[in-house]
Amino acid sequence: MHSKKILILAALLAGSAAAQQRPAFDGAAALEATRRVVAFGPRPASSAAHRKLRQWLIAELRALQCDVAEDLFTARTPLGPRPMTNLIAKFPGASGRVVAITGHYDTYDRSGLRFVGANDGGSSAGFLLQLARTLARAPHRDGVWVVWFDGEESVVSWQGEDHTYGSRHLAKKWKAEGTVDSILALINVDMIGDADLGLVYELESTAWLRDLVWSVAARLGHGAQFSRKYSSAIGDDHVPFVEAGVPALDLIDLDYGPGNAYWHTEQDTMDKLGARSFEIVGQVMLETLRVLEQRSNRR
Ligand SMILES: [Zn+2]
Repeated sequence: MHSKKILILAALLAGSAAAQQRPAFDGAAALEATRRVVAFGPRPASSAAHRKLRQWLIAELRALQCDVAEDLFTARTPLGPRPMTNLIAKFPGASGRVVAITGHYDTYDRSGLRFVGANDGGSSAGFLLQLARTLARAPHRDGVWVVWFDGEESVVSWQGEDHTYGSRHLAKKWKAEGTVDSILALINVDMIGDADLGLVYELESTAWLRDLVWSVAARLGHGAQFSRKYSSAIGDDHVPFVEAGVPALDLIDLDYGPGNAYWHTEQDTMDKLGARSFEIVGQVMLETLRVLEQRSNRR
């Protein structure tokens, strides 16, 4: 009993030393990256602005000297076939196992609506870029793949298969290739920039992964943002991976403005976002990666 306690203490000390070596997540830089993303204007899948955003992201990623791949596919939408592209940045590890961190970079599109999606589409794209910059500065035992999904938004209405085009395509591809077997976990972020951050305890997500992330957040003092106050099942880009057998979690805040009034409206603008929200999600993400790495290396 006593020696076990000492072992646990030693593990905790080693853990905190590793945490100190790991770079912190810069929330202000993630907010600034989101501002750059939003400056491209409305960015629906297959639009010119969306293509320009992708080219900018690729240029930013190439500067980090990571492996950047475009995953092109044709989405069959109710409005006909549309070319779409997922973007994947790979930070290799030695273990052969991988954690995927994902989010979407397209924006909601309806005629008559000038929707710039600061939080919805913007925050995930900017957060992932800043995460990639942070990952590029530290070595990993497990690989980390950062994925920008195309076509999360519906083109007519969120029914049948009119949504999550990019994640459904990639989950199917990874399943066919056998890639799913090397994915330890997938964590998707969506609308995580709200200055008043409150994430959903999401019920479609894999329970052990959700509870691991919630316990990491509580330990870091972010229990208020990662609470069980909003508990709900939400259709999002994690679902195709859960269905493909990958442990997957969605981090989403669907209480955006009074009664979620800013969601999918012209009110979804930069002034509603806060650097602290990006920082909280980023720190929880980096610490979760560390904990997952420790777990996987014990196997
Ligand atoms: Zn949306």
